[in-house]
Amino acid sequence: MNYTSTRSTASASVSAAEAIKNGLAPDGGLYMPASLPTLTLEEVETLSRLPYAERAAYVLGKFLTDYTREELTQDCREAYSEERFPGGAAPVVNVGDGLYTLELWHGPTAAFKDMALQIMPRLLSRALKKTGETRTAMILVATSGDTGKAALEGYRDVPQVKIQVFYPVDGVSRVQKLQMMTQQGANVSVMAIRGNFDDAQSGVKRIFADAAVAEALDAKGTFLSSANSINWGRLAPQIVYYVSAYCDMVKTGALSLGDTLDVCVPTGNFGNIFAAYIAKKMGLPLGKLICASNTNNVLTDFLETGVYDRNRPFHTTMSPSMDILISSNLERLLYLTCGAEKTAAYMKQLSETGRYALEEADLAAIRAHFVGYSTDEEATAATIRATYTDYAYLADTHTAVGIGAVRRYQKEVGEGTRVLLASTASPYKFAYDVYRSVKGENAEDELRALDQLSAETGVAIPAPLTGMGEREVRFTQVIDAALMTDEVLAFADKV
Ligand SMILES: *Cc1c(COP(=O)(O)O)cnc(C)c1O
Repeated sequence: MNYTSTRSTASASVSAAEAIKNGLAPDGGLYMPASLPTLTLEEVETLSRLPYAERAAYVLGKFLTDYTREELTQDCREAYSEERFPGGAAPVVNVGDGLYTLELWHGPTAAFKDMALQIMPRLLSRALKKTGETRTAMILVATSGDTGKAALEGYRDVPQVKIQVFYPVDGVSRVQKLQMMTQQGANVSVMAIRGNFDDAQSGVKRIFADAAVAEALDAKGTFLSSANSINWGRLAPQIVYYVSAYCDMVKTGALSLGDTLDVCVPTGNFGNIFAAYIAKKMGLPLGKLICASNTNNVLTDFLETGVYDRNRPFHTTMSPSMDILISSNLERLLYLTCGAEKTAAYMKQLSETGRYALEEADLAAIRAHFVGYSTDEEATAATIRATYTDYAYLADTHTAVGIGAVRRYQKEVGEGTRVLLASTASPYKFAYDVYRSVKGENAEDELRALDQLSAETGVAIPAPLTGMGEREVRFTQVIDAALMTDEVLAFADKV
C-alpha cells in the first residue's frame, strides 16, 4: 500500500514507513493511502473474538503493508498492554437511552491522544530502520495541553528519537502544566513560552520551514519530525477503535452483526472523526457521523452551508482541545470527496483568504455522511450535571459537548436511536469545570478539584492523575518565542 498527497496524485508515492517518517507530503498536502482496504462482516466477526491488541495489529496491517504482522503484533501488544491501559484499551459503556460511550482515555495521560501516541513512536522507530535512516528524529510539538503530554509519554526513551515540547505559559490548565513539568525520560525537553498557543504553534511552524535550521540539525545528525494528527501514523491507529467498538457491541448483543451504528465525535482537528469515516468506507456498518463542536463552531457552519470560514472570533472554552479554527484533517475528507486537484484549490483559498466555499455537489456528498451540532458552555455544564444525575455517568467537558450533539440528533431522527460517542478525556483531566458543573459551586483550586470531585461522586481518580502535587518538577524554563530556534539547536546537542 503506497501513499500519495491530498494535493496531487501525480506526486511520487511513498511507503507507509516513509509517510510516517516524513509527516507531511513535500507539496504541503497530507498523505493518504492510494486506495482504501476493505473489511468484511466475516472479518468483523472473527475480530470480535480477539483482544484489542490483536484487532489493532490486524486492521493496521491493511494499511501498513511494509510492516510485518509479527512487528505490528509485537508493537500493539506493548502499546495496548494491561500496564498501559489497565482494564482494557477502549471499552464501550452503555450509558442509557441509546447512548454508548467509547472510552478512549484509559491510557497513561488520561486523554484519547494516548490511543495513537502509544503506538506511533514504535511505528516511527521501525520506519527509521526500514528507510535506512541513521540520524536521530527530533519530534517538535506545540501544544495547548493534551497532545504535548501524550507525545512526551509516548516518545520518552525511544531509541534514535528525541522530543521537545513548547506550551504557552498561561494557556494550559494547572493539571496539564504539572503533567508536563514532571515528565520523566532522558530524551525529553519541555519549555513554556511567553505568549499564547498560536505563538507556540507559529514558532514551531517557522522552525520546520527554516532550511538553515534543517541544515544545522543535519550537521548534528538530527532531523525534525512531527507528532500531530496530520501524520498518518496517528490516524491509522484511530481507525482501529471504531472497529473494536463495533465488535464489542456485537459481542454484548447491543448490535446484531450488520446493524448500522451512528457515531458522534467531539471534534477539533477533524482527525478522530475522519478515522471513523475511513472505517465506514472500509465497510464497517456505520451510519451518520455526528460532528460535535463547542462555541468554536466553524465545522457546524461548514456542514450546514458548505462555507469554511475561519475569519471569526476565537472562543476560549472549557473544552480547550476543541478550540480550533483550522481543522487540518478536513483536507483528507475533501480529497476523498472531490479529488486532489480541487482540494489543492480549496486549500489555496483557505491559506490566502481564510475561507473557501464548496461546490454544491461536494457539499451534498459530504452531508450524506456527516451532520454537525454545536453546544455552548452553559448547555455543556447542564449536560454534565444531567448525565451525572440521570445516569450516574461522569463525563468530561469534551465528551459532554458530544452528548449534547447526540441528544439533539436523537430528537431529530428518533429518541433512543443507538449512537456510539467517542469519549475523549477522563473527567478528572478537567476536574475543575466538571466539579463546578456537577456541584454548582467552584472547587477550592484546580488541584484540589480532583479530590473534591472524587469525594462528591465516588468515582476513582485514574492512577496517572493521582499525587500530581508531589511529583518531582523537572522543567521550569520559560522563554520568549523568539528564542525557540536556539533551544531546538541546543537540544540537538544534548544526550
Ligand atoms: C484532541 C482532542 C479532541 C479533538 O480531536 P481531533 O482529532 O483533533 O478532532 C477532543 N477531545 C479531547 C479531549 C482531545 O484531547
